[in-house]
Amino acid sequence: MKLTETKSFKGNMTTTVAAKTLSIDGREVPINGERNLLELIRKAGIDLPTFCYHSDLSVYGACRLCLVDIQGRGIQGACSTPPEPGLKVRTQTEEIREIRKIAIELLLANHDQQCPTCPKSSSCQLQDVARKLGIRKVRFKPVHQPEELDFSSVSLVRDPNKCVLCGDCVRVCSEIQGVGAIDFAYRGHEAVVLPAFGKGLGEGECINCGQCAAVCPTGALTPRPEVDEVWRALNDPVKTVVAQIAPAVRVAIGEAFGLAPGMSVSGQIVAALKRLGFDKVYDTAFSADLTVVEEANEFMKRKAKGERLPQFTSCCPGWVKFAEQYFPDLLPNLSTCKSPQQMLGAVCKATLPGELGIPKESLVMVSIMPCTAKKFEAKRPEFAEGGVPEVDHVLTTQELARMIEEAGFRFKELEPESFDMPLGFKTGAGVIFGNSGGVSEAVLRYAAESVTGRKLDNPDFPAVRGEDGTRFATVALDGVQLKLGWFTA
Ligand code: SF4
Ligand code: SF4
Repeated sequence: MKLTETKSFKGNMTTTVAAKTLSIDGREVPINGERNLLELIRKAGIDLPTFCYHSDLSVYGACRLCLVDIQGRGIQGACSTPPEPGLKVRTQTEEIREIRKIAIELLLANHDQQCPTCPKSSSCQLQDVARKLGIRKVRFKPVHQPEELDFSSVSLVRDPNKCVLCGDCVRVCSEIQGVGAIDFAYRGHEAVVLPAFGKGLGEGECINCGQCAAVCPTGALTPRPEVDEVWRALNDPVKTVVAQIAPAVRVAIGEAFGLAPGMSVSGQIVAALKRLGFDKVYDTAFSADLTVVEEANEFMKRKAKGERLPQFTSCCPGWVKFAEQYFPDLLPNLSTCKSPQQMLGAVCKATLPGELGIPKESLVMVSIMPCTAKKFEAKRPEFAEGGVPEVDHVLTTQELARMIEEAGFRFKELEPESFDMPLGFKTGAGVIFGNSGGVSEAVLRYAAESVTGRKLDNPDFPAVRGEDGTRFATVALDGVQLKLGWFTA
């Protein structure tokens, strides 16, 4: 073990502490509380491949890609080996390269290899690792037996032909989401990942959150696309097609076009949608403001009567289904307000046909949303009047990016345009809906002004902000104490 000197400051004293190190590919690297070798190797600037390691999930160690050679111990999985001072670790040896290649070739031999038509093509980790390892041909006999795709969910498509059995979906669904809608079944070469009781994904307890698709390294779980339906509506001269954009989309889409993360590009999105043929482009932040007023008024009435408290927000359709399935006793505590997506859809369907002089059935409402659960919400029967849905189609941020790419627009060069009025108007409260804790902060701002009867000098409530999954805050308003809590995955 080599001891590296680091300085530690205590009061006015400076002491020298010996840092514990280990060797990675011949370079000494300090150990600073990393849970496993993989974390340490990544910190050292080396991206070892892995399908099944996610820092927020339990260690599974199934994909056998993050193998390393430890002197005196042989080849071991970096994800399941704790760092120890003095270890001599090699990340690239001929033997390791060959084992990685064999692992990938075995997966490819049992994979349908329909890459050009896969929704994950170009962002698939299996493709990426095969390319990096220089695999040009699979040495094993193909054993893949085609299986039917699962289209039972309105939010996601499950394609078992692309699954590499990494178990990421299984662990995120049970460990983070607390649902357990999907799990391993059978053993050995018959092992598969399936929704409970072999049903379709849309027939069980899945809450449509899309977290499994977010971690899936291949095209085995992907958001259910609605791009073709939207193109059809845009190309239909009889239809009037209206878009609404959720607050979170305006910062997420820029990354798909190489812009800095967090950069707001709402003007370019409006311009792109207008060029695609949308007749009106509205801002979901407008109805987020309506939700703020409704939820805050509902809360203040409940608080005055002391009933149905605590009040839970009802904006997230994944949370609503979760509560329906597992906590039906809590349903009276959920706000009775519609989500901003459904509010804007309902307002448009009620007012635009008269305003634009068009038949109601020719109006097509399209939402651009950051979450697959919004696809499920739009299809719920209670959000349709006389069989006409408030929102006809929901596109994810990636689906919109694909449409823009397909149309050939140079997104970065688009001249920004403004939302159509009046449903493009919003306040800062509507915009912060896209942030973690934003709904509560927006409701709090409105409630604070209503309770005190004064305009807030500073509308920020930093106590309610943060990224922690579970948070609590107490806010005092003219002697009234409000207690707030969040649970987010
Ligand atoms: S969408 Fe969410 S609830 Fe459904 S299987 Fe995936 S992670 Fe589980
Ligand atoms: S569906 Fe995707 S995340 Fe789940 S086990 Fe298969 S490859 Fe892994």
